[in-house]
Amino acid sequence: MIVKAKKRLGQHFLNNEYIAENIACAISTENAHVLEIGPGMGMLTQFLLKRNFSQFAVIELDEESLEYLDKNFPTLKVYSGDFLKFNLDDFYNGFKVITGNFPYNISSQILFKILDNKDTVIELVGMFQKEVAERVCAQPGNKQYGILSVLLQVYYDTEYLFTVSEHEFNPPPQVKSGVIRITRNFDKKINCDEQKFKLIVKTAFNYRRKTLRNALHSLNFSPEFINNTSLFSKRAEQLSIQDFEYLARNLC
Ligand code: SAH
Repeated sequence: MIVKAKKRLGQHFLNNEYIAENIACAISTENAHVLEIGPGMGMLTQFLLKRNFSQFAVIELDEESLEYLDKNFPTLKVYSGDFLKFNLDDFYNGFKVITGNFPYNISSQILFKILDNKDTVIELVGMFQKEVAERVCAQPGNKQYGILSVLLQVYYDTEYLFTVSEHEFNPPPQVKSGVIRITRNFDKKINCDEQKFKLIVKTAFNYRRKTLRNALHSLNFSPEFINNTSLFSKRAEQLSIQDFEYLARNLC
């Protein structure tokens, strides 16, 4: 039996074992609780099982894949369901997530879910559409730098590991993929109100072509602060995390 690829579930199965093993080995330690999202036919799972993690489980949505996993990996701990609806509080505290290519249209939602659980998810290794992977790791001054770069880099160290060609999948997707690792860095703290910080980052990047003076005009900064702060003549993509933090401390 093989699982028939369903487009709506983003089923592009990796067909290169060497790459699968490299992804599985990118989780940083053996001594970890690991959850794999979307194992499909277990291409990554077979290598993850060899790593002897303290705890290992997978979550899969597709009935046919669930049946496949049950037959081929009878001892594997499998959650049946949608990762986006999965309550991570029920899972181990301090765990790592790994994902092969899941549907690229939900990649931002997955990353935002990780952020919402930033104190429990201590690492993520994942394969994303190459542009999303680059965005997560982008630095100021780069046109890929955006909301996800800033919000994730506030709490996580991000690394772009390698690119995977569309020809390594069956069926091939339309885009290249990038594998990243993000690691929670508990030394990273922002010294301002988190909600204000988020609001400023989101608003600034929603109008990324405008200077901050225009992009942030709906937010409550005092006119003196705006006039005395040169950051307001820059655009969002030119600002560091510390610059956004400074703005958040001065938002009324
Ligand atoms: N990792 C495997 C399979 C990739 S295909 C490989 O690299 O070969 C993506 C898998 O994610 C599919 O099996 C699909 O059913 C599953 N999936 C899609 N959306 C999901 C969701 N929201 N929660 C859990 N699994 C999901």
